[in-house]
Amino acid sequence: MKPKISRIAEQLTGSAIVENRRKADLLEAKGISIVDFGVGEPNFQAPACAVEAAIESIKSGQGNYIDPRGLPELRQEIAEMVTRRHSYPVNQENVVVTAGSYGALTIAARTLLDAGDQVLLPEPFWGPYRNIVQLTGAVPVSVPGTAVGAKFVVDPEALRAQITPLTRALVINSPNNPTGRVLAINELHAVAEIALENNLWIISDEVYSELVFDSAKHISIASLSPEVAARCVVVSSLSKSFAMTGWRLGYCIAPPEVAQVIARINHYSVRCPTSFVQYAAVATLRGAWDDVERMRKAYLGRRNLVIERISGLPGVSMDPPQGTFYAFPRIPESWGTGKSFAERLLNEEGVIVSAGDAYGKSASQHFRISFATSEKILREGFDRIDRMTAKLGV
Ligand code: PLP
Repeated sequence: MKPKISRIAEQLTGSAIVENRRKADLLEAKGISIVDFGVGEPNFQAPACAVEAAIESIKSGQGNYIDPRGLPELRQEIAEMVTRRHSYPVNQENVVVTAGSYGALTIAARTLLDAGDQVLLPEPFWGPYRNIVQLTGAVPVSVPGTAVGAKFVVDPEALRAQITPLTRALVINSPNNPTGRVLAINELHAVAEIALENNLWIISDEVYSELVFDSAKHISIASLSPEVAARCVVVSSLSKSFAMTGWRLGYCIAPPEVAQVIARINHYSVRCPTSFVQYAAVATLRGAWDDVERMRKAYLGRRNLVIERISGLPGVSMDPPQGTFYAFPRIPESWGTGKSFAERLLNEEGVIVSAGDAYGKSASQHFRISFATSEKILREGFDRIDRMTAKLGV
């Protein structure tokens, strides 16, 4: 007989993206060429100033534990950056440096939730929210998405319908993975009103805040009013905007008394995010904004290519992404579900996409394309998608 593992851990499901990649690896081993539109990771190098600062930091011996709140210079830099770019007052006391936004979300969940509490997740939502909430013993509650055409919008009535005395928090994500939508100010006000009326925490995932296109503007829900900010934990990181996914550098912005607890949990989880990465992050936030803009422009070009190619697919509709590097088209029912379509695309054409149901049942007719890849690969993948859809007809 073996000792048991935790019941919560036992029920944890694996990531659909990782599963897909494993299936694709098996096909690749058989000699089939794979185009990966699944992975949500920039295909750029980290900014040169980040690399130089990290090397310098290691060489100069900055390898010790750091205060679990984060390096003071870095917290200051984050506070100033958020104040400047997202238009609400943030200071060091609000900031805790974490191991990516995964770390920020995990620690925020452990700070805010007790076992049995319910957390509203408006669909379509990034799948790991569900797992992160479950790991605290709290209960994720999917709120079916309301679509206007192929565009998912915040529906206050749908949110209100799921509120119970156990509801403790809701999670929003704008710009959104998987839709690429940027929430409009009236939608943010509606969410804030619901949180205020029902005494809920708002966990706002803003990891794609710097990747917005055209006239779309990222508005942090915490900027609506000090009253709203007082119930927000904003999470973000350098992963997406600065192409630094593996560096694991994120942060939470929270009211000071909450930030103190978040820092304590940070301590007992990881002690502190890697020291020299924190020093390098100071240099990155000071000096890499031209890199952010260069990459944003490249994503914009790819986004335009994706819109053009999707518009050529008969029966497929899509809300054009306003931000992120994802597109979330809806397929006609005659082609099956997003899941069966994704399976056929992989098996018959070697293209990895993510099935919509990974983001909630109401998104099951959709599939997600990540355009964090070169235009050449995008063209190749879309040629294959064209071949597949020609077989399906309309
Ligand atoms: N939040 C969203 C919406 C994401 O898409 C991702 C990564 O794909 C993350 C958070 C986690 O990013 P990181 O932990 O690298 O900051």
